[in-house]
Amino acid sequence: MLNQILGWLRHGMNTCTSALLTAQLLKRAEPVLSVSQVPVVVVAPHEDDETFGCGGLIALKRQLGVPVTVVFVSDGGGGYQEGTTAPPDIVAVREKEALEATGVLGVPVEHVQFLHYPDTRLGKLDEVDRRRLVSTLTECFNQHAQLEVYVTHQRDLHPDHEATCRAVMEAVSRSSSQVRLFEYPIWIRWMGKFHRNLQWSDFPGLIKVSIAPVHATKLRAIQAYTSQIGMLGRAHLRCYEQVWEIFVERPRPHQP
Ligand SMILES: [Zn+2]
Repeated sequence: MLNQILGWLRHGMNTCTSALLTAQLLKRAEPVLSVSQVPVVVVAPHEDDETFGCGGLIALKRQLGVPVTVVFVSDGGGGYQEGTTAPPDIVAVREKEALEATGVLGVPVEHVQFLHYPDTRLGKLDEVDRRRLVSTLTECFNQHAQLEVYVTHQRDLHPDHEATCRAVMEAVSRSSSQVRLFEYPIWIRWMGKFHRNLQWSDFPGLIKVSIAPVHATKLRAIQAYTSQIGMLGRAHLRCYEQVWEIFVERPRPHQP
């Protein structure tokens, strides 16, 4: 009973802080990102992050005919209700949902990659697997002379999201492509910057993009994630349903 009450309190607090944070982020996010003809790679730790964080941007780029590749790093095998047993087909279900969502956003199936690293363990990969991941990402980035790369925020309050960001930063630093690097907040949006001492200095180069022309498309893509949206709940999903998307542009990292 105590756990249930604590859960409700946490949920209530997150509902308030996430709305407040969204308002603050939007106020601070200037200027507006113009959607260019530069090809895009979106790197998502899990099957849903790409749509929640960048679904509108992806759809806008695709409307212009710009190539968009989506790379899913983990197999999504951890995406089930805490305290329950994993459904045996969870990986296949999430892959199917991801193909449906990215299809709604206009990404051809041949531009969607599943790397199948173990969900919830991306921050604990051994050195061989970690290097393999960085090298796969580097190869992917090298397909274009000029590129925009989008990845989850480096302090996104989820070990998989933060590990994915680190791998992408290393791959960008090794890539021969001319890359603009953007991070999209996911768990930060829900948990709020008031957790784990996040500071405004963690959000330099805030930039926003209006997704109004494709807003309905993004909402439709979110609905493809049937296995996840019931679990996350309305208040959480509302963080990703705005007509603006928010990014942090980072300077290109140097080769380690
Ligand atoms: Zn995720």
